[in-house]
Amino acid sequence: MDRRRFLKYVGTTLASSALTGCQEAKLQKFNFLTDSKWFRLASELKGHLVLPTDLNYISAAQTYNSRFDSIKPQAIVRCANVDDVIKTLAFVRNNKIAVTTRCGGHSFAGYSTTTGLVLDVGLMNVIEINNNGTAKVGAGARLLDVYSKLIAQGVSIPSGSCPTVGISGVTLGGGIGIFDRQYGLTCDNLIALEIITADGQLIQCDATHHSDLFWALRGGGGGNFGVVVSFIFKTHPIQTLTYFSASFRFEDAAKVLIAWQQLAESWPGNLWGQLFFNMAVSSIPKLTFNGYCLGEPSAIEPYWSAFLSATQSTPTAIKVVPQSYHQALLAEYENSPEYYTARWPTVASSDFFNVALPIEGINVMLQKIHAQKSFSGCVILDLMGGAISHIAPDQTAFIHRNALFSAFYAVTVSPDIIPTWQNEMRNLMKPWSNGAYLSYTDPLIEDWATAYYGENYARLTQIKAKYDPTQVFNFPQGIKPS
Ligand SMILES: Cc1cc2nc3c(=O)[nH]c(=O)nc-3n(C[C@H](O)[C@H](O)[C@H](O)COP(=O)(O)OP(=O)(O)OC[C@H]3O[C@@H](n4cnc5c(N)ncnc54)[C@H](O)[C@@H]3O)c2cc1C
Repeated sequence: MDRRRFLKYVGTTLASSALTGCQEAKLQKFNFLTDSKWFRLASELKGHLVLPTDLNYISAAQTYNSRFDSIKPQAIVRCANVDDVIKTLAFVRNNKIAVTTRCGGHSFAGYSTTTGLVLDVGLMNVIEINNNGTAKVGAGARLLDVYSKLIAQGVSIPSGSCPTVGISGVTLGGGIGIFDRQYGLTCDNLIALEIITADGQLIQCDATHHSDLFWALRGGGGGNFGVVVSFIFKTHPIQTLTYFSASFRFEDAAKVLIAWQQLAESWPGNLWGQLFFNMAVSSIPKLTFNGYCLGEPSAIEPYWSAFLSATQSTPTAIKVVPQSYHQALLAEYENSPEYYTARWPTVASSDFFNVALPIEGINVMLQKIHAQKSFSGCVILDLMGGAISHIAPDQTAFIHRNALFSAFYAVTVSPDIIPTWQNEMRNLMKPWSNGAYLSYTDPLIEDWATAYYGENYARLTQIKAKYDPTQVFNFPQGIKPS
């Protein structure tokens, strides 16, 4: 079970307040431009420019999250190549229009839409696999493109579990997934990237060229420093994979969580596990453990039986099955084609925990989960540690290297409601939390710079001042120049 799959359980929701998606994503100031200016830009592009009068405007304007449908861009530019991006950014500068970049459009806060111009990199999705253990991935690729192409060639990269998420957003924010304890986050597997800054410069960025920007782009988040046009990743040969899971009664949740949170340190990096609390309207939440092992089913012994016995609970169901990478990352979605086009009005928040939760913290979390019966939603706890923690907190912009696990809190409600449950959960867990994941963006977090970036924020503001001093790229929780 993962963030995406929980959406299969969402149902109708109860109304309690009525704020709009517009208020949530905060409207940006912009100039309204005449059609002739747009037509001139369109004539210079290899890609497409979509205006509100075009038949495909509604689909071009929409993001994955239907909460933001009320935000109407003046235009969406679907850039086909680097030249298109440079021309579009020149147009933005000359006409002083607000711009935001879009890849997969999955931002939980609507940060890839605007009332100005959306620069959509979706057409730039070519993936080339090199024979030196690397792959060049166009910034517009989605995880399903990346996984399909790489797995067919016997390799993969560690990344997220939702195939329609864009490679740009997930990589720039860090990239949490089922293989990160073995191989690190998605951004840890980045060797180089190409980015076009606000002034139209194409910059090649790696450990020795523009290393400050390379540092910032590994966990500093999308939308802050320019438009990334391609990534080069280290790839890993695919291996035998085993999926294992257990369902528990909610009344056993405290015992299961106590045992589970020890695993970040006691399990080897090739073992990963998640606790998934599925909340449905007017129901008792369901608790499932999901795990993956890079190895044969026999490789999970004795870890699996030791964990099950440590839970002091009797699971209602247990499964251990060999799986291919394709089955793990793509099969469920291929069997349910509606997921590729599904759009959900979901809000999220998150925590990282560096120390195992004491029983008071566990009780606070479980009571909040148990009491929530108004909306469909989930709480997902993902084990961290392993290779993620082999990198120092200041070595990349992703600071949460010492976390034992991450927590994702999400509810899905109709777009005219802004629920606060997810943010209340974060506030309740503050005594034990060590920050939040910027990719599970929560616009209600007030101390977001500290929560997302901690001590790395000061350096990020300097890098912002160097590469985008006038804040051409600007959004409510965007990095500010120092
Ligand atoms: C259903 C679902 C499942 C998820 N599962 C996971 C998971 O398993 N692991 C995980 O780590 N995260 C997960 N996420 C979070 C996800 O990684 C973030 O929402 C990510 O930002 C989405 O990237 P995107 O390209 O799809 O989104 P977008 O909304 O297109 O972009 C996100 C941000 O990046 C900027 N951006 C986009 N493209 C570029 C570019 N080329 N250059 C510079 N900036 C750019 C945008 O302006 C925006 O600020 C999930 C999200 C959802 C909705």
